Amino acid sequence: ALEAEGLWKRFGERQVLRGASLEVAAGEFVALLGPSGAGKSTLFRCLTRLEEPDKGTIRIAGHPFHDLYGRRLADARRSVGVVFQQFNLVRRLSALDNVLAGRLATTPFWRVALRRFTEEDRERAALALDRVGLLPQAHQRADTLSGGQQQRVAIARAIAQGSRVLLADEPVASLDPANARRVLGLMRELGRETGLAVLCTLHQPDLAHEFGDRILRMEGGRVVPDRSGADFGVAAPVGFLGEPDYEPG
Ligand code: ATP
Ligand code: MG
Repeated sequence: ALEAEGLWKRFGERQVLRGASLEVAAGEFVALLGPSGAGKSTLFRCLTRLEEPDKGTIRIAGHPFHDLYGRRLADARRSVGVVFQQFNLVRRLSALDNVLAGRLATTPFWRVALRRFTEEDRERAALALDRVGLLPQAHQRADTLSGGQQQRVAIARAIAQGSRVLLADEPVASLDPANARRVLGLMRELGRETGLAVLCTLHQPDLAHEFGDRILRMEGGRVVPDRSGADFGVAAPVGFLGEPDYEPG
């Protein structure tokens, strides 16, 4: 599970996060909506500690994540898988090596580390690729894969590194509708099977409604429940939409 509480982040004069809190349960798929510039990507970067929040707490699978540094932070980061809009793979590595290297690929020593993987590590990576339907492409270079395939490699990478949380920031923004559905369906399915807590920003509300177990919105630097859904009209009391002189019948 993922629990974030009271996250604040400011860039210069601009207060982007103002006490953003959210929880994603294990196996749950939560969609995050909100206008451009609302701070969704900033929230994600704070949740991975690529950006330091000014204040607030983050717990991953019950363990504090906000106060880790150095080696312990590097280790804990493995439990947070990421999928971004700009396919975040090492372009010149094969699909399999991308899954193997995982977060190592972002450190200066990943080429050395790659040679140290065991046969068991390779089997685990191949199994993860199989789960996302990409075993036939295991030895293909990442930059020769389609956009949808690259996102599926990123999902396989999260599974293989044993992530408890998957943060997907607009993972389907560059994909056609059919591929978008396939990638989202895969994230939801694997999340349920493996107990991964999935938090996924989307720009299309229809996809959020189709795939989200729950929908949240980023508003004014905070995270609030989404109220744009079809159930809003049912839940709202008569007159709620502001007809002061409304008379029944
Ligand atoms: P979109 O839906 O377009 O992806 P978003 O909700 O992801 O938008 P962010 O990328 O988090 O929005 O940006 C939120 C605000 O924070 C923007 O006004 C942006 O300019 C500002 N911002 C983000 N990162 C930085 C930074 N490193 N330095 C200064 N300002 C930043
Ligand atoms: Mg963004």
